[in-house]
Amino acid sequence: MIEQPKPSALSEQVQNMIEWLASYGGDGKGGVTRLLYDPAWRAAQQAIKSKMEELGLLARYDDAGNLFGRIDGHDSKAPVILTGSHIDTVIGGGKYDGAYGIIAALIAVEYLKTYYGLPIKPIEVVSLCEEEGSRFPITYWGSGSITGVKKREMVRGIKDANNVPFEQAMHAAGFGTMQHPEPKRIDLECFIELHIEQGEVLEREKKSIGIVSHIVGQRRYDITVFGESNHAGTTPMQWRHDAMFTAAELIRLLIHRANMEKSGLVATVGRIDVKPNVGNVIAREVTFSLDVRHSDADKIHAFCEECFGEFEKIAAQHGTSIVCEKWMDESPVAMDSSLSAAAENILKKEGISYKTMTSGAGHDSQVFGTYCPAALLFVPSRGGISHSPEEYTNAEDLQRGVRLLIAMLHKLAY
Ligand SMILES: [Zn+2]
Repeated sequence: MIEQPKPSALSEQVQNMIEWLASYGGDGKGGVTRLLYDPAWRAAQQAIKSKMEELGLLARYDDAGNLFGRIDGHDSKAPVILTGSHIDTVIGGGKYDGAYGIIAALIAVEYLKTYYGLPIKPIEVVSLCEEEGSRFPITYWGSGSITGVKKREMVRGIKDANNVPFEQAMHAAGFGTMQHPEPKRIDLECFIELHIEQGEVLEREKKSIGIVSHIVGQRRYDITVFGESNHAGTTPMQWRHDAMFTAAELIRLLIHRANMEKSGLVATVGRIDVKPNVGNVIAREVTFSLDVRHSDADKIHAFCEECFGEFEKIAAQHGTSIVCEKWMDESPVAMDSSLSAAAENILKKEGISYKTMTSGAGHDSQVFGTYCPAALLFVPSRGGISHSPEEYTNAEDLQRGVRLLIAMLHKLAY
């Protein structure tokens, strides 16, 4: 076991830095909004860059806007241990999502450098430019650029809600003009991300740390039922082709089947659009969303196939028809088992309670996880609340996460 900082001092340091970073894009009521390349985003990245320099790290951007702070290793040819998270937020998000992973990495590297000097392998802290997809219709722009799965041509022509083209916003922030190095990296040994859980499993089970084994795969569909509009008073029930009735039965089937599944599969219908959406007119067309997630792609596939098989029968019974449009199909991603085992060992030695779990939400780690060994470590979220000014993790839990990161980095790089 390595020498660790005092819990009380560490708690105070993490909390102070959470407040410091939340002041960039903060609304003064606990909410934070930092959208890719906007003024608050730029100010936050610049503040982190100054902090990195203050800590004696070699700070630099890449051409996508990712920010790195490097501490060189004795072995100049060794691959890089990368740790951090994303700097962007949702609109009116909390102080911890993304920010915590960056802050924890800064504190951990500062501590290790002060008490243990230079590592053998280089360590880099990364503040990833974008993960949430809250300004432009693209997600994981930061980790995707680094791993090469997101390419420049993918952002051409996309615009934000104010019609600002992606590339215009990027240039205005000083990126995308090759003033900075190309984002794609080929020198990474692994990626470690510390993040808030954004769910309430750890809190309910009274565990301090979550070691993520898999990030779930997810499929998303838009399902449209076509029927026939008609008068609500003069059309007898037996003559109707009611798209609403079919949709209601389909939704019931989906949620009921998901409830019956005991494998941890989750299915959600969260949005519904009705045409003509008038109280005294039979619905002609109903489109609803479907979001299905599990850590096993076969389970997702079997669930969808089974339900969609029933759909046709139900639609035919009511003289309606259905189109299922799949617009997202992301495979589950396994986190690296030896990094997870290393985390588990440290937690056992330190006497910190933990749980091995899957993540139902997407994270940058899933992008890195298909590219290099990756670890995703959670700290509890109060009430499971996230993407909200109510997002909160207590200082005790925050500092336990940092201690784990310190020990992980020490094991990997020293
Ligand atoms: Zn996040």
